[in-house]
Amino acid sequence: MSDIRQVIVPDIGDFENVDVVEVLVKPGDEVTAEQPIITLESDKAALDVPTPFAGTIKTLHVKAGDKVSQGSKIADIEIASEQTTAPKREIPKPRPSPSAQVGRVDVKTQLVVIGGGPGGYTAAFRAADLGLDVTLVEQAPTLGGVCLNVGCIPSKALLHAAKVIDDAKAMSEHGINFSQPEINLDQLRNWKSSVVGQLTGGLTQLAKQRNVRIVRGTARFATPHQLDIEHDSEQSILEFEQAVIAVGSRVVKLPFLPDDPRVMFSTEALELPEIPPRLLILGGGIIGMEMGSFYSALGSQVTIVEMLPQLVNGADPDLVRPLQKHVAKRFENIFLNTKVTAMEATDKGLKVSFEGNDAPASDIFDRVLVAVGRRPNGDQIDLEKAELTSNEQGLIEVDQQMRTAQPHIFAIGDCVPGPMLAHKATHQGKVAAEVAAGEKSFFVARVIPAVAYCDPEIAWCGLTESEAKQQKIKYGKGLFPWAASGRALGMGRDEGMTKLIFDEATNRIIGGGIVGPHAGDLIAEIAHAIEMGSDAEDIGLTIHPHPTLSETIAFAAESYAGTITDLMPPRRRSR
Ligand code: FAD
Repeated sequence: MSDIRQVIVPDIGDFENVDVVEVLVKPGDEVTAEQPIITLESDKAALDVPTPFAGTIKTLHVKAGDKVSQGSKIADIEIASEQTTAPKREIPKPRPSPSAQVGRVDVKTQLVVIGGGPGGYTAAFRAADLGLDVTLVEQAPTLGGVCLNVGCIPSKALLHAAKVIDDAKAMSEHGINFSQPEINLDQLRNWKSSVVGQLTGGLTQLAKQRNVRIVRGTARFATPHQLDIEHDSEQSILEFEQAVIAVGSRVVKLPFLPDDPRVMFSTEALELPEIPPRLLILGGGIIGMEMGSFYSALGSQVTIVEMLPQLVNGADPDLVRPLQKHVAKRFENIFLNTKVTAMEATDKGLKVSFEGNDAPASDIFDRVLVAVGRRPNGDQIDLEKAELTSNEQGLIEVDQQMRTAQPHIFAIGDCVPGPMLAHKATHQGKVAAEVAAGEKSFFVARVIPAVAYCDPEIAWCGLTESEAKQQKIKYGKGLFPWAASGRALGMGRDEGMTKLIFDEATNRIIGGGIVGPHAGDLIAEIAHAIEMGSDAEDIGLTIHPHPTLSETIAFAAESYAGTITDLMPPRRRSR
């Protein structure tokens, strides 16, 4: 006679009405005792529920999406004939989920990653794929770090909106007139948030599929092999064999800023609280210029104030010029070589004092956005308890394998030297994970491209012309002005330029920069050419599709080689 037993949801602690996120078996499946048959997830933790009996699944009483509590029926199992009594079983400890609110997590792990930004989640996922038992500690409610939540992704979504507005306006010069856009800030904000949500939600899924344990909380070192984790004033301890520090960076604040909601940083600005009639942006670097671009497109009168003599510092001046010309027509003012010395909150607005040749002594703005830089978070995690230190800039020094002075602790991303860019963080994350898993990987990138996603975009990588001059390198350059590109003309954007820098001794490409729409996408070819050690002929003889903006890279190489026919070749090299 068959013996049918019922499997019910056991006493699993503080779990009422929790979601069944996955049913792991189907009727007819043979199961062994203690085999998980469903996965539950609450806002506190994820938990696999095992069957206490071995046998054959006859009936399932739940499906994904159902809600269950203690005692809910899960399945009927026809038990194996030799099994008469249920084996004693232990209920597994809840596995903290990405949204877990758990305080105490006494976890031992092979590899802990501190910080779930692009560096951290990449390191965690790669290490899990290489077979390590991985725990990722993140203090924020979602994975993705600055980049996904309040950086690269939301800013680019808003810049896309700005570009659509600007492009529509620009078409009036070519006979197509659109009426003034009506901007629904709520809808725009929701769209931006949905883009972010899609990506951060995707990460949670990827973590789950890889069995990366996610612990919510703020981590600090307690010893070189232990972390204290704090969440909602509860403490827990996590013990690790190896660790990756991926704690990223935070905004730099200035001492004279008043405590006033009209003073914003990039995170608040991306929340689009309103379209301020007059907006002052402190900092003409990449983030300041990007923010200026979209607030200007939405209708704000934007003023940029920059201490240095150039916008987008780091890029060659000839690449910045077209951007400066473009924004000069749109922004209210651009004050270079100018400092803000004081700021006062008044009823009329924020009264800002300037020190610089062109700026007034003071002016009043509706809002101020501060984008003067970011500082690394290495000083927030009690490094000294791991017998580590950070340098004068707060950065953690690492070797080419991303190891800190403690060989079992790695550091990556914004908290280590180098540009604070997401693609640097992800590549370093992979290296750290691979080294932790015993592979011989090294971070030896020749170039890390930089992009200002303004309109026009500026992108550069490798040696800039200014650096080549400073370092007295014998270089030659290949230039291609976009005024000679059919594709650029057809887009109504002839202000662009592509510039390649070659080592005169080898003719190999050592740097390059582009200004113009899509420069950020185009720069990847130059980065690849540098990594591959390409010379001008390798680039020029590679057939680029016509008519595209990518042709401008081949033409710039031909211009250096003296073989260009789309322009007169520079005399020096013509054959
Ligand atoms: P982060 O992304 O900063 O992530 C660190 C994570 O660690 C965070 O989630 C944080 O909550 C967590 N954390 C910190 N301390 C602890 C702790 N003690 N315990 C637990 N968790 C902790 N870069 C680009 O390449 N392209 C762009 O277009 C671009 N645009 C940007 C736009 C803006 C407005 C901003 C602000 C930045 C932009 N960046 C861009 C920079 C990019 O976001 C960063 O370089 C990148 O996010 C760094 O990744 P990371 O993993 O090192 O650190």
